[in-house]
Amino acid sequence: MANKDYYSILGVDKSASEDEIKSAYRRLAKKYHPDLNKTPEAAEKFKEINEAYSVLGDPKKRSNYDQFGSAEGNPFSGSNGAGGFEDFFGGGGGFSDIFSDIFSAFGGGRSGANAREKGSDINLSINLSFEEAAFGVEKNITIGKLEKCASCQGSGAKNGKDFTICPECNGTGRVRFQQNTLFGTTIREAGCPKCNATGKIIKEKCPDCNGKGYQKVNRTIRIKFPAGMDNGQTLRMRGEGNAPTRNGINGDLNIKVSVSPHKILERKGDDLYLDLYLPFTTLLLGGKVEIPLVNDKYLLTIPELTASGTVMRIKNKGMKRLNRDSYGDLLVTVKAETPKSLDKQTKQKLQSLAEEIGDGAYTKYNNYLKKMK
Ligand SMILES: [Zn+2]
Ligand SMILES: [Zn+2]
Repeated sequence: MANKDYYSILGVDKSASEDEIKSAYRRLAKKYHPDLNKTPEAAEKFKEINEAYSVLGDPKKRSNYDQFGSAEGNPFSGSNGAGGFEDFFGGGGGFSDIFSDIFSAFGGGRSGANAREKGSDINLSINLSFEEAAFGVEKNITIGKLEKCASCQGSGAKNGKDFTICPECNGTGRVRFQQNTLFGTTIREAGCPKCNATGKIIKEKCPDCNGKGYQKVNRTIRIKFPAGMDNGQTLRMRGEGNAPTRNGINGDLNIKVSVSPHKILERKGDDLYLDLYLPFTTLLLGGKVEIPLVNDKYLLTIPELTASGTVMRIKNKGMKRLNRDSYGDLLVTVKAETPKSLDKQTKQKLQSLAEEIGDGAYTKYNNYLKKMK
């Protein structure tokens, strides 16, 4: 089997600088990290990205790979046995700084000996009306979630103190062991199997949670949707998800928003659009037309002799920009509508009007006629 092309996995050139490789890796690792990306292919992709970076991110291994097609500098050792991504969390040296960066950005925190479990996220969807999205809204939402058991403070032991320190891990919940990988022997840490990584051996279980340390409860949470949210955006509430099953931090509550359309206005980003059909005579003669705003009406002045297709931009009458103190615009495209039918008498009048105005009054039409000759 041919060696994998690590450059194309990271989407960088063979001539890419260390910084370019590092930033490509960070971007992809965020995109495919299994904690953040729940699609089935994410884990495999993540593993592949890590494998590629473990080589290209290390100048010596990269140079070996460039020369020999292998990180080890030995053309006969395949590069397809690089273990799961878990390998990179333990004693992986260069990875830990990048991961701590990524996880601080995501509120996680999971590297090496300080690994703390994060509870699972709760994901739900909610529909907002156009106006709710425009102005922001607060809603009460009831969710079922895992919370730390109050009776035992999450220890799982009766009264919160009926336990002893685990002798296997001295209460740390972590044990170390050696592991041989393609990149050499590494010391890995993992959860202590004897105490299930809790550091504690329970003598008598808490009756309220049956020793689990957490309970499923229904909680009503007041959620503030900021003004300007758009269809498909997700509101993330850190720490409002499930409690971890061991010591650690809560997961997040992710609320995906769908926004109902306005009955007339069309939203694109922060701007609003309106196709406004008017009698062709209004475009000729000018006039005033009432148009909708997000929560109001506006009297739009059509100057006389307005061409069909003219776009009129009304500043700051669009949607509020999310988390900013400014507004998009309202763009009105004015279009001429012709009558569905005309009686004979009206046609005759229009005919004589057309002659009165004369073809010479139309600049674009006359340019066209000239070019056609
Ligand atoms: Zn309990
Ligand atoms: Zn233990």
